[in-house]
Amino acid sequence: GERNPYVCLPCSLMFHYDCIDLPHVISINRHDHRISHRYPLTPGDRVCEVCRQDITWRYGAYSCNKCPDFSVHSLCATRNDVWDGIELEGVHEEDVDTTPFKEIEEGVINHIFHKEHNLLLSDGGQVIHCQGCAHPISSEKHYKCMVCDFFLHKKCANLPLRKRHGLSTHILSLHPGKENSDRLFDCDACGRVVSGFRYEYGDKIVLDVDCASLSWFRNPKRHPHALFLTTLDKGTCVACDKTDVYVLNCVECKYSLCFKCATLPEAIKHRCDDHFLVLSRGEKAAYKYWCTVCEAETNSEKWFYTCHDCGIMCHVDCVIGDSLNIKPGFTFMDEVKGLKMEAVLNDNNSRPLCSTCGSRCRFPMVYNLSINTYEGFHCSIECLLNAAENILLG
Ligand SMILES: [Zn+2]
Ligand SMILES: [Zn+2]
Ligand SMILES: [Zn+2]
Ligand SMILES: [Zn+2]
Ligand SMILES: [Zn+2]
Ligand SMILES: [Zn+2]
Ligand SMILES: [Zn+2]
Ligand SMILES: [Zn+2]
Repeated sequence: GERNPYVCLPCSLMFHYDCIDLPHVISINRHDHRISHRYPLTPGDRVCEVCRQDITWRYGAYSCNKCPDFSVHSLCATRNDVWDGIELEGVHEEDVDTTPFKEIEEGVINHIFHKEHNLLLSDGGQVIHCQGCAHPISSEKHYKCMVCDFFLHKKCANLPLRKRHGLSTHILSLHPGKENSDRLFDCDACGRVVSGFRYEYGDKIVLDVDCASLSWFRNPKRHPHALFLTTLDKGTCVACDKTDVYVLNCVECKYSLCFKCATLPEAIKHRCDDHFLVLSRGEKAAYKYWCTVCEAETNSEKWFYTCHDCGIMCHVDCVIGDSLNIKPGFTFMDEVKGLKMEAVLNDNNSRPLCSTCGSRCRFPMVYNLSINTYEGFHCSIECLLNAAENILLG
């Protein structure tokens, strides 16, 4: 604890007032193993895995039996956004198998979400999209189905079936998603629609696989220090200025990043350039730049995508749109309302006009909506939902 311990002089016992009632063995959302309260800890320099502040070993704290370096302040481990409130001392620990596939032979697996065929480990090739994260697969190692069009990044094939995350005290389960969904799922961390695999706990929390895998952020090109989810208090993101969002915080200086910005791809292909566009951190620039996609001025102090070969600059939103986690061909159907939406790559020579806002669709994906006799293209999920609402309300 950070505060002065109480000392019982006659027996020279030292304890924090709050520690008397501390549970002995618990499971928290920052770690897969159980942790136990120890007083004192074994000597050494330690940092709390929740608040990232130093731990004074003499005062006691929680630590993991299996990972000697994992320790958490007593008060941080028992915070109600970290611990589910269950004491596990004397409770049998089940061995839960979280591996998502069986290995058939070297380089061939059978994945629980595609049991009908085996998948073969492959290198890059044609333009394909991962069924797990929905991102394109370029040169990365991936599994491809030996029979049908089903692809998974190697890292996505390895996503554990259950995992913990700082945004929930529940254990989250991996869900395969559906090619034809009857519902749109938004990630509770970044707000993006998820079409592929998702981690969830009932209706309480949904995370796309990128946000679910993000418990800390380190990228010296963006910020010299590592960032952590130290609290569920919402904040303002330095990269996109969005307020009231979950943020990863720097503990050394005042710098917070939202999940949406922390999960942006480092490099991405866009129709406006033949090369990969690279994510760049804003700096005060002497010149004005215009976005190649929307032709509006860019704020050079914010993050942007750039091609170093061609010297172009693009807004992050113009390059990414709202479809980062949506696979082309993803459909969403509400049979009760007679509504059908399909996500289509916006890669035709002539880009359609959005039937809601009237502008030329500039994002990587367009959404084709059909309700009864109505049919129209929309530049964003927001425009799509507005159109659907207007039509259904008559
Ligand atoms: Zn702490
Ligand atoms: Zn451990
Ligand atoms: Zn993937
Ligand atoms: Zn298949
Ligand atoms: Zn997300
Ligand atoms: Zn942001
Ligand atoms: Zn910092
Ligand atoms: Zn733009």
